[in-house]
Amino acid sequence: MSENKVAVITGGTRGIGKAIAKIFAQNGYNLVINYVSENTDIESLEKEIKNNNEILFVRANVSKFDEAENLIKNAIERFGKIDVLVNNAGITRDNLILRMKEEDFDSVIATNLKGTFNVTKNAVSYMMKKRTGKIVNISSVVGVSGNAGQCNYAASKAGIIGFTKSIAKELASRGILANCIAPGFIGTDMTEVLSDAVKENINNQIPLKRMGSPEEIAKAVYFLGGEENTYITGQVLNVDGGMIM
Ligand code: NAP
Repeated sequence: MSENKVAVITGGTRGIGKAIAKIFAQNGYNLVINYVSENTDIESLEKEIKNNNEILFVRANVSKFDEAENLIKNAIERFGKIDVLVNNAGITRDNLILRMKEEDFDSVIATNLKGTFNVTKNAVSYMMKKRTGKIVNISSVVGVSGNAGQCNYAASKAGIIGFTKSIAKELASRGILANCIAPGFIGTDMTEVLSDAVKENINNQIPLKRMGSPEEIAKAVYFLGGEENTYITGQVLNVDGGMIM
């Protein structure tokens, strides 16, 4: 039997990240699942996600460079390699620019954009040594289109697209492919906070007239991050029910 591949997923304990963890587990990948909250029920998550594979859970705040470095060190100590990195950890701190506090701008950029840099920078040296690897970064439709009330979040997600295209160019010669998924509105804790009126308004703007599920994003992540992808790099795949065409 061939050696299991290894996927590192940031923010893999809830929502989209958990669905991504599950699809890689179902396909035989050993997993490094990152999270940040202290009171995370690792035991239940392990039971839910495990599928004849091995899972290492690592608590690390991806916005801190040293914690991201430690996350990758832990992954290498346990599994010796990283085949796939999914930068999924993300937060929102929505407000109109006039009301947005500086700390809300800084924290969203620090987690979403700088966090993606922190983890990727530490992981790529191991991928480069093996001359193979896949990086899938989770952007957002609002990083492409902008959105009132989300200038911090949209900037972070647009930044992820520029970051991904740049590293795709840098790392192609080393056999590393880097792409973005740009989800539309997906039913998770992140969107649960929206009022029913806002959700209805959003659904009306989606050609498919509904929010997506975390599993629908996970399938696209696996398409770009799994073994079948050998020739797609530097791309942004919108998975959004047709919001952006
Ligand atoms: P979610 O349900 O709020 O889950 C967020 C995950 O990120 C959690 O596992 C959380 O860990 C982790 N996380 C947050 N801050 C972190 C940090 N500093 N370090 C490490 N982990 C951290 O979010 P989601 O809706 O699944 O979103 C996942 C990704 O998709 C995000 O990048 C988001 O921007 C993007 N996205 C979501 C939507 C949507 O409609 N839901 C649309 C477009 C893009 P803890 O559980 O430990 O807090």
